[in-house]
Amino acid sequence: MAESIEFNALESNANAVTAVADTVRTTLGPKGLDKLLIDQAMNRHISNDGVTILLSLRAIHPVARMIVEIAERQEQLVGDGTTTAVVMAAEMIKEGKRLVKELGVHPTKVVEGIDSGVKHACILLREETRVIGISDIGLEQVVRTSLSSKLDGLKLSKLVISALRTVGDNARYNGLYDFDKSIMVIRRTNMDDAVVNGIVLERKKVDPEMPTEVKGAKIIIVKMDLKPVKESWLKEGSKYDEILNMEKDRVSKSKEIVDKLVSTGANTILIASTEVDQVIEDLLVARKIFAVRISTEEIEYVSRYTKAKPIRMVEELSSAGKLGESKDQLLGYADVVREDEENEVVYIENGAGKNIVTMIVSGTTKETSLERWRAAIDGVNAAEAALNEGVVAGGGSAELHVIDKVKKLRLKGLEQVGLEVVVSALESIMRQILTNAGYNGLEKVMAAKASPSGFGIDIDSGEPVDMWKRGILDPLKVKTMALEAAAEISKSVLRIDRNLAAEDLSPQSVSDSKR
Ligand code: ADP
Ligand code: MG
Repeated sequence: MAESIEFNALESNANAVTAVADTVRTTLGPKGLDKLLIDQAMNRHISNDGVTILLSLRAIHPVARMIVEIAERQEQLVGDGTTTAVVMAAEMIKEGKRLVKELGVHPTKVVEGIDSGVKHACILLREETRVIGISDIGLEQVVRTSLSSKLDGLKLSKLVISALRTVGDNARYNGLYDFDKSIMVIRRTNMDDAVVNGIVLERKKVDPEMPTEVKGAKIIIVKMDLKPVKESWLKEGSKYDEILNMEKDRVSKSKEIVDKLVSTGANTILIASTEVDQVIEDLLVARKIFAVRISTEEIEYVSRYTKAKPIRMVEELSSAGKLGESKDQLLGYADVVREDEENEVVYIENGAGKNIVTMIVSGTTKETSLERWRAAIDGVNAAEAALNEGVVAGGGSAELHVIDKVKKLRLKGLEQVGLEVVVSALESIMRQILTNAGYNGLEKVMAAKASPSGFGIDIDSGEPVDMWKRGILDPLKVKTMALEAAAEISKSVLRIDRNLAAEDLSPQSVSDSKR
């Protein structure tokens, strides 16, 4: 059957995937090594982060690019486990290729075996899952495990845990934790690590002469340009009188806008637009208003934290004024808004709305702060996944646990052989983590399987241990998503029997040719 098909693409595609996977596999786990990334301008960056490394690769085989895409998606959907997904994908492809080429199993059978095996493995992993709560030790363990391979991981995990517990159940929406909404993560090279109960904006006030601190801040968020005169009004060749009139108009219109802003009772203005007329700025200074620019993303946080509603048109201000009480609804409130001049940040503290916490991640250089910042976000994501869907034993131990049961699955005919692929992938995680720690990975996996203590190997001593007792925990979701992602890419690669050079395949031209 399979003898009649050549699969001349499989070999080269599989090799390309393996080559890309090899660039990140040695980073897996707490003893994983770092990569030195060098760009065309000879900038250097040291990273241990799967996605960062993959995205930095320049020339890349089109099929291997799928690996990068999978890693990116894993990063977006769970924010951790990217290297795990890549290692498993490479293993599935390697094993799948062996079945096709050496044993002559048709790829369709292999693919069906992978499908059933992964589905089953996910169900079995779910059965191994334990629930954790925000104040449980399990939360600390899962964050520490997630950050164990990162630069300065222990210190970072303390920071992350403190941020998580400071927001606590305020980050729960409809029963599920969503920390994106309640934890802001910023990176600073000139400040220490800190968790601030409140919002920290990486901003300076609009004008140095504005007050440095407002107590009892009544906050308005402005989305429109604060600018009365459009440039286009100033026609070329305008007469002196006309210009003078327009200038007068500009001042009176500016005054009108500022009056309207101030009449709402606001003493703090957060400006989310690009243009602020100098006259308006001066008037705000004269009225002792604190004004600071914010970005569109920051609007959401500030609005949630202070209850301020962003306004888009000056008219909204006056109509709100007429309605008397309702004008207060535009305003948000915080006990304090202040600028930290030295560090060039603005603090908003004790807002009237939902709780928000800012995690300040430090670093001596831009690169280290960036790498630590990414890691901190990974930690938060891992915690979120763990709180929402539970945890399994880490270090590749949960995967090893389910292997026997996956093997017991009875599929029809050659699909059964496809299960081998999933079994290999499940084994590959512990093997790689231990190989990276300097052991003979395969030998250690055998030792773990033969041990009664719960299928794990202590990374420091090389002795069998129970990962639950050691507190090495991974979110279930990281594992199941990684398995599914790996299955998806390996199925595509195994199905391709030929790579053909084609004309333009951009979506536009392909749909044109269908017409
Ligand atoms: P990924 O990009 O897949 O998240 P990591 O480099 O973060 O890759 O490694 C994650 C793996 O390392 C997980 O399987 C986790 O259980 C494992 N791990 C973390 N700490 C330990 C430890 N102390 N002993 C064994 N395995 C660990
Ligand atoms: Mg990780």
